[in-house]
Order: sequence, then structure tokens, then C-alpha cells
Amino acid sequence: MSAGPRHVHIETFGCQMNEYDSELVRALLKREGFVLTADRECADVILMNTCAIRENAHTKVYTHLSDLKALKKSRPLVVGVLGCMAQNLKEELTKQEPLVDLLAGPDAYRQLPMLIQNAVHAQEQGGQAKALAVDLPEYETYDDIIPARIPGVNAWIAVMRGCDNFCSFCVVPYTRGRERSRDPQGILDEAARIAGEGFKQITLLGQNVNSYRSGDWDFARLLTAVADTPGIERVRFTSPHPKDFPPPLLEAVVFHPKICKHIHLPVQSGNDRILDMMNRTYTRREYLALVDRIRSMNPCMALTTDIIAGFCSETEAEFEDTYRLLEEVRYHSAFIFLYSERTNTIAARKYADDIPQEAKSRRVTALVDLQRRISAERNREYLGQTLQVLVEGDARKSSLQAMGKSDGNITVIWEKTDVQCGPGQMVACSIYDVSASTLYARATRPSEPSPPKMEQSCTNIVQS
Ligand code: SAM
Ligand code: SF4
Repeated sequence: MSAGPRHVHIETFGCQMNEYDSELVRALLKREGFVLTADRECADVILMNTCAIRENAHTKVYTHLSDLKALKKSRPLVVGVLGCMAQNLKEELTKQEPLVDLLAGPDAYRQLPMLIQNAVHAQEQGGQAKALAVDLPEYETYDDIIPARIPGVNAWIAVMRGCDNFCSFCVVPYTRGRERSRDPQGILDEAARIAGEGFKQITLLGQNVNSYRSGDWDFARLLTAVADTPGIERVRFTSPHPKDFPPPLLEAVVFHPKICKHIHLPVQSGNDRILDMMNRTYTRREYLALVDRIRSMNPCMALTTDIIAGFCSETEAEFEDTYRLLEEVRYHSAFIFLYSERTNTIAARKYADDIPQEAKSRRVTALVDLQRRISAERNREYLGQTLQVLVEGDARKSSLQAMGKSDGNITVIWEKTDVQCGPGQMVACSIYDVSASTLYARATRPSEPSPPKMEQSCTNIVQS
């Protein structure tokens, strides 16, 4: 291990909340004199910020851990597991993984500098510290930590942490603890700082972001205040729960020019018995009524969702209810997951995970195929339209092309020769071709950043 400042490499798995947490960890470590490195080969410490939500995220982390075995044999190295897996699988990770020197749950990052020092010290003495910090205090919001963000177009702000909903399939309440909201002034200060640093878009984050409440501030008020930040062109939020959409929140999303016209509305299932077993607290009818309410206010609002196929005891007929819900709502896109039982959850304790893997996979495939067809049809509606697009950078497949996101969060690609533009600028994109996931455009000219034009030339927006 090198003398002088320790070099730390962080690898992040899972959701945006984990990306944000890694920014917090970077800030905490920098403050204590650690040096962050993007190169794992020259790191003294490798930290994996993990996700436990679904089986495949979990498997991915174990694969990466075993990749580190050879590296750790070849030189002194401290390996740490952070985040949800550290919280949920502490016994498994400490007992079965001699590779792991330290574990820190999502609310214990302040202890990390000390844990790392202890682990390094123990290793220098020829031993292993097995340092563990997995408390879930009910107050931690990291309000005073300024995340060490990587410069770019979008900045995340976590406005609340934890979740009290206890959906029966979900591990989050056990890995991230009780729901707590940050002070609004701290969030608004952070938004102003972000704008000053040149970010153009803010995404507000929370496991159940729209249940935000601090004194007399609810989520609608917070979202509007963040969207009023000078210099910020777009505001998004994720993930909301369908139960927390009062009229003021819908009005803020529909009418505020800087709040993107996109709502992620996780439904999980289209069948009432399954929704009840999942503890989602709404029925299919109530969910569809919310969709109708949103569309009656703005028929062009882009809606996306999360679905779980093959939940405990789901029959073919109940699965077909979900299939028909997708056909009825016609989301712009959907994340479709195969149910995977998670340790400690209500479903793991109460229900048998009894749908054969083959049936789960078949149901996921049917939903994915259906959604792909619907997404392509939805995207065809944009043909011939001009959309305001926030430039993000090079297209993934070719550096001759640029990419950005529409207001409805759809990827748009165009030839760089069309127009001179860089990340953070708005361009006007006229759509000439589409696939299920992408719009292909001619970027005609950089447009004035605001106010953005409504997609699909929608004019019939109605106050609820
Ligand atoms: N808070 C959001 C909500 O209420 O819908 C969801 C956040 S969760 C972290 C992201 C998505 O992962 C969920 O919407 C769900 O579809 C999926 N998910 C969570 N637990 C799962 C499990 N055990 N098996 C499969 N998918 C799961
Ligand atoms: Fe998990 Fe979301 Fe349910 Fe909370 S609301 S328990 S994060 S699925």
C-alpha cells in the first residue's frame, strides 16, 4: 500500500440514488484527504456501492467481487461494500467473503474515513479489521454534505431518504430505513449552487419522492421552487408513488414551463388481488383514474412505468390483466422486471415464490414485446414534429452523431454536422425517423433555452 494519501476507487451499481450516494461518499472522503481515482489498478481502496433491489444487481456485485480476488492477492488492497447490499447481507458478506474488509450501509457513510483507516492499519499489521457500520439512524439526510459531482448536464438532488411504504416485494425499507425529508432551504441552496456550476437540469430523487414533506412544504411546493431556480432549464423527479399525486402537484407538472412533461408512474401489476398482495395501496381502477386525470390536463404528458411479472401466485389470467393495462395506458416506455424474492421482505416471509422461472421469463418477454411495439407507435407520433432537445454529448454508437433528451425524456440523435452545439445547450430537432427507443432528427438551429415548447403541439391543457 502506498505511503501518503490513500487512493480510492468507487464503482457504483443500481439506481440514480446510488449514483448520488457515491457523490456524497466522494465528498466525504475528499474532505478527509483521500484521493479519488478512476483507475482501479492504482487504487489502495476499492469501494463498491451496491444495489439489492433485484437478483441481477446482486449477482453483478458478486461477480465483480470475485474479479477483485486476483488483484487483492497481487498487492495490498482494501475492499469495501457500501449501500443496500452492505445493509441487507452483512452476515453473508462478512462471513463468506474473506475478500471484504469493510461494510457501510447507506446511512453510515460519515463513518467511512474512519473505517478505511482502520482497515488499512489492520492490513499493515498483517491482519484484517472487518469493519462494519450498518446502523439505520432515523435522522441522517447528509444535508450538510455538498456532493462531489462529475461536471455534466444533469445534477441529482436527493430530497428525501428511506421509505415507509413496505411494498411486500421491496427491500428498500430494510436497506434504506425510515422515510425522512430534507430541509427545503438546504435543497434550494443546493439547486442555486448547481445552477452556478453550469448544470442545466436537476433531477429530484427519493425512493418515494412525492411523499416529500418538511413543515408546510410538500413536494409540489418544493418542485416549483426548484424549477424557479435561475439558470436551470429543466427539472425532473423520480421515483414517485401513484398514491401521492394531489392536484397541486399535477398542476405544477402540467403548467410550470421548466418541469418536464414526463411522469414515471410505477404500476407494478394490473390486477387488484396482486396489487393488494404487493401492498401498493391503490386498485387498477384508481390507478387508471389518475392516468385519466393527468391526460385530461395534458394529453401529451409522457408516461412511463415499472412492472413486475411473475409475483407470488400470479395466475395467467392475472398476468393478462397487466398485459391489457399496458395496452390500455400505452406508456411511452416501461421497465419490466421478473419478480425476484429478496431477503427479509414481507413477500419472502409470507408468500411462496411459486411461479416457475420459465413462466416468469415468458411473461416478461410478452410484456417487453408488447411495450416495444407500443413505444415504436408512440414515437411515430413525433414524426414531422420539432422538439426542444437538451444536448447531452456524443451518441453512444458514433462520435459523428450527437444525442440529447426531449422534454418527455426520449433519446434524440442527429448528425453533428447539422448544427454546432455542445452539452447543456438546447437545439431544435425535427424528427424524420424513429425506433422503439430513439428519435432520429435534423437539428436545425440552437433555440432560445426557454420557455420550452410543448411536445406534439399540444394546446388543450386543462386546469383540474
Ligand atoms: N419507489 C418506487 C415505487 O414505488 O414504485 C420504486 C422504486 S424501486 C427501487 C424500482 C423498481 O424495482 C420497482 O418499481 C419495482 O418494479 C422493481 N422491484 C423492486 N423490488 C423488486 C423485486 N423484488 N423483484 C423485481 N422487481 C423489483
Ligand atoms: Fe419499495 Fe417504492 Fe414500495 Fe418504497 S414505495 S417499498 S421504494 S417499491
